[in-house]
Amino acid sequence: MLFVFTLYGVPRAQEEDKKIRIIMIGAHPDDCDDDGGGTAALFAQMGYAVKFVAVTNGDAGHQLTGGAELAKRRFAEAQEAGKRLGVVYDVLNNHDGQLLPSLEVRLQVIKKIREWNADIVIAPRPNDYHPDHRYTGVLVQDAAYMVAVPNIAPETPALKKNPIFLYFQDRFLRPNPFRPDIAVDITGVFDKKISGLDAHESQMYEWLPWIGHYSDKVPKDKGERIKWLAETRKQSISPGIKSALEKWYGKEKASLVKNAEAFEICEYGSQPDEEAIRKLFPMLGK
Ligand SMILES: [Zn+2]
Repeated sequence: MLFVFTLYGVPRAQEEDKKIRIIMIGAHPDDCDDDGGGTAALFAQMGYAVKFVAVTNGDAGHQLTGGAELAKRRFAEAQEAGKRLGVVYDVLNNHDGQLLPSLEVRLQVIKKIREWNADIVIAPRPNDYHPDHRYTGVLVQDAAYMVAVPNIAPETPALKKNPIFLYFQDRFLRPNPFRPDIAVDITGVFDKKISGLDAHESQMYEWLPWIGHYSDKVPKDKGERIKWLAETRKQSISPGIKSALEKWYGKEKASLVKNAEAFEICEYGSQPDEEAIRKLFPMLGK
């Protein structure tokens, strides 16, 4: 193990040790937290290795500051969020609001997935409202086969096994609505998820309220603020997610779930059957 460590500079997992390795890839420093923070916290609590990657540095996401100053602030917020959730948080230095699915960024994404030796890769679907989210979806799809091709980006060893690729949940209906193949009960870690989001002060309490015209709703007091955040981030469980929860947890357990995160299986990576999904998501269970 030590030898391999030295050779590649990263821990090797996939099959050799049984620890599942997860990488979530979002466009901005706060996207993974928002869409998968609860699931990440659960994996981390079970001792599995989780990494978040923001493909852009978030340097456009504020009404008063921008550029390097904002990128620096958001990097610090991401590190704090990572600490609270128990995940490693990487931020790539691409400009916010200007992301393109270029070959250059595709290679950056391939490298991140390989270095993490990921078993599970989670990213947005490529039909989101925000161009950075859309192109992050495209970039990860473009990496989904290439991570196993040794002649591409040969300086980082190719993965021996193609990971499974999943999509984060979203509300967009065209060309096709999100399909909740896997639903995770995050009721027990919902407060932790909110605490992770609370670390992104520039977003949760400043930028998003400003662009959404609800700045007047944000409480001034820090304790009140986090309660307000939890209240506004609660999501009702849709009938589709409810049936996914019933499938994975059984009817009785599913009826007790207050908060959930759902994922759709992408067609491009390894295609897991039910048994493989239960192995990869050990928190699922009746
Ligand atoms: Zn975003």
